[in-house]
Amino acid sequence: MSGFLAVGLSNSNLMGQSNHSASASGPKRIAIVGSTGTIGVNCLDVAAHLPERLQVAGISGHSNTRLLKEQAEKHRPDWVAVTDVVAAAGLKQGDLPSGCELVVGQDALARKVAGPGHELVVSAIVGAAGLDSTWAALEAGKDVAVANKETLVLAGALVLDLAKRRNAKLLPVDSEHSALFQLLQEPGALGRVEKLVLTGSGGPFRGRKRCELAEVTVEQALAHPTWRMGKKITIDSATLMNKALELIEARWLFDMPVNRLDAIIHPESVIHSFVEFVDGSVVAQASPPDMRLPIQYALTWPDRVWGPTRRLDWRALSKWTFEQPDREAFPALDLGLAVAQAGGTAGAVLNAANEVAVERFLAGSLKFLDITQLVVEVVGAHTHDASPALNDLRRADGWARKEAVLWQNNQTTMAN
Ligand code: NDP
Ligand code: MG
Repeated sequence: MSGFLAVGLSNSNLMGQSNHSASASGPKRIAIVGSTGTIGVNCLDVAAHLPERLQVAGISGHSNTRLLKEQAEKHRPDWVAVTDVVAAAGLKQGDLPSGCELVVGQDALARKVAGPGHELVVSAIVGAAGLDSTWAALEAGKDVAVANKETLVLAGALVLDLAKRRNAKLLPVDSEHSALFQLLQEPGALGRVEKLVLTGSGGPFRGRKRCELAEVTVEQALAHPTWRMGKKITIDSATLMNKALELIEARWLFDMPVNRLDAIIHPESVIHSFVEFVDGSVVAQASPPDMRLPIQYALTWPDRVWGPTRRLDWRALSKWTFEQPDREAFPALDLGLAVAQAGGTAGAVLNAANEVAVERFLAGSLKFLDITQLVVEVVGAHTHDASPALNDLRRADGWARKEAVLWQNNQTTMAN
């Protein structure tokens, strides 16, 4: 039986024993790590619309102290964490409402996340930087609404195992995984799955041939056609690395063999995933591209309640379209499937190399096609460990970051 089935979709949870039901005990108290990001802001908006359901107990940002101060004034959490110790100079205890505690640094955040005062943590930090707070929350037995896919790519097997051991639930926030989660609510549904098919918009370069991608600019890559998101995931969407990360994420969350995972391009971003069942029936989850729905579902699960998310306009609706991904122009997709198949340290290496590559592309020192090329070569060069412990994964992450920098420096030297 899958780890996720055990931690997320078990019969006991669906029989009303969940601590997620709208309860007589008052609103659910949540901590949002990464509250200053796109997901964090959407999450606070959902909470503001559902005060009888959700209460914000804590928030964290890395550097955006101005926004943290505004969020603290509006949502009145018990604590605010700033993880960048330099940027923390921009926020003083006296800037926060009375009774709201200011803490600084990654360790302080991990302690707050694991501490009392909330039952669920929204993991919305970008990148591997989200691992520690997600881990701390699960270790303390808190449920986690997980947007931070990089943590699952890096350490999916261990994170799922930890959640199971601590009897903590992992609730997907990524729209595709939320769609699958919504489609698999019936007890035993996961055991009747033939295939999970994730959709993707295709990003800003959909339809372009590989040779047309060589000189694309950062500005063009950031112009996503359907979603407004942080810069890192927006570049991942342009290379289709985001879909690769999501296939790996699905592999762990749903404990699905890789040959039962697929991706299809759906430019309108309205259908978020399909489940094909063993009898040939295919069901889909559809809603306008608005992250407030998957966030809300994770926070109110197993209930559905009215919320602020955009609605489908049935009078304007005429068609939804699909196409096959261009695997030559976007080799990240097949790389992701290979890495999902390999497991072990492969995900940590892929993720770390990609984080460096995206950072370098955004800084103007790496070409678009070299993002995936760099990741392919770093993954190819690594010594695979099939059953790593958390420390081995951290080491693999560190090795891949160094290797990625070396690769990029070599490219620059060769070009000069
Ligand atoms: P953003 O870039 O908008 O926000 C990132 C958040 O992480 C900010 O709060 C930022 O703080 C914080 N942060 C950045 N670096 C660190 C660090 N080293 N330590 C602690 N905190 C840090 O990203 P998104 O909101 O777009 O994405 C967040 C996560 O959710 C990603 O993993 C992404 O893949 C995933 N996701 C996002 C979706 C979306 O629609 N945006 C959809 C599905 C998944 P600050 O800004 O204060 O510096
Ligand atoms: Mg997604």
